[in-house]
Amino acid sequence: MVVIDQQEAIIFDTPTTDQASLELIHWVEQKLGCQVKAVVATHFHEDCLGGLQAFQQHGIPTYASHRTIALAKANQSAVPENGFDQELTFEIGSEKVQVLYPGKGHTHDNVVGYFPKADAMFGGCLIKEMGAGKGNLADADTVAWPKTVAELKAAYPHVKHVIPGHGKVGGSEILDYTMRLFEQK
Ligand SMILES: [Zn+2]
Repeated sequence: MVVIDQQEAIIFDTPTTDQASLELIHWVEQKLGCQVKAVVATHFHEDCLGGLQAFQQHGIPTYASHRTIALAKANQSAVPENGFDQELTFEIGSEKVQVLYPGKGHTHDNVVGYFPKADAMFGGCLIKEMGAGKGNLADADTVAWPKTVAELKAAYPHVKHVIPGHGKVGGSEILDYTMRLFEQK
């Protein structure tokens, strides 16, 4: 997700490579005319921080939770510089952008982003597109997963736009879909 207000941008998750990240940075800077204020990696997998070095080389501050930073170090991935515990709020233009840790799911460290102005949530890999399978469960907590999404839904019951880590954007129905997918039978 790219969040923009008054020529300032925040990017949630890097593309998987430095090359693709550089293309994204140039697109936001040159085509959209925005300054990239920060990039947030929403968990420690390659599809969130695989292109981190391109952002670092561009002088863009990189953020992730302390959990993600520890896992990235253990995994010998690129490591975001700035950490937070449960929540982080950015200001871009005259708007706020929130990041919060809702609990375990796709990974133990997955966080979500929320942009109040657009009522848009970036669920990342914690949230599945309609019809999706369970995906990569190597680092997942499938017992906690539906509870985590239920709490997220309770915190944002009428959220308008929900962006999954992969696939099509939806509304709060993809929160429901993800909960059902992981509920114990
Ligand atoms: Zn992942």
